[in-house]
Amino acid sequence: MNINTTKQHLLELENTFKEQEDTLTELDRAIGDGDHGVNMLRGFENLKDKVDDSSMKNLFKSTGMTLMSNIGGASGPLYGFSFVKMAEVVSDDIDHDNLVTLLETFTEAIAKRGKVELNEKTMYDVVARTFEAVKADEKVNLERLQSFADETIDMVATKGRASYYKEASKGYMDPGAQSMVYVLNALIGDER
Ligand code: ADP
Ligand code: MG
Repeated sequence: MNINTTKQHLLELENTFKEQEDTLTELDRAIGDGDHGVNMLRGFENLKDKVDDSSMKNLFKSTGMTLMSNIGGASGPLYGFSFVKMAEVVSDDIDHDNLVTLLETFTEAIAKRGKVELNEKTMYDVVARTFEAVKADEKVNLERLQSFADETIDMVATKGRASYYKEASKGYMDPGAQSMVYVLNALIGDER
């Protein structure tokens, strides 16, 4: 995937998060504070004015910086830091091998920054499962990404605000897992 397509996919997330704002708000209202929809939209709304497309590396770095300073909440630093880390390993043209490297970096960045493991009912569950699937040469389309987010419904949250709900967090999808579906769908691009 070249820089123009990658940039287009990232900028299109503004529309995606406009469409999904209410859904994400509802999810975060159930097991959080109801701001995840507005947080994600604020991050991607700002991207068109802040994006630096002088190189693929700068595209990822400027996306990370924009997300870090505009999303807010717990998810802003997680997404922001991840894009800044991915900027260090991204190629000028993202092929399958580079996508695997990007997803590995994304997964490690969330794990490190969030001190999170698998099955703690967070965005990490989606990125880690996507990394494993793409590494195994499996096609990961939107439907498959959604199935990874759906897996968080039965989990008990042990990280972030949702962890205050303990057992009562069961039965609700994690909002960050849902937003991660769209972010990964944009990154995976041609590979789906
Ligand atoms: P806040 O919880 O501060 O209101 P958001 O609502 O924007 O922030 O984001 C909540 C999402 O952030 C959760 O649904 C979860 O996926 C993710 N999250 C929170 N804490 C962690 C963590 N320690 N590790 C990974 N993801 C986390
Ligand atoms: Mg919230």
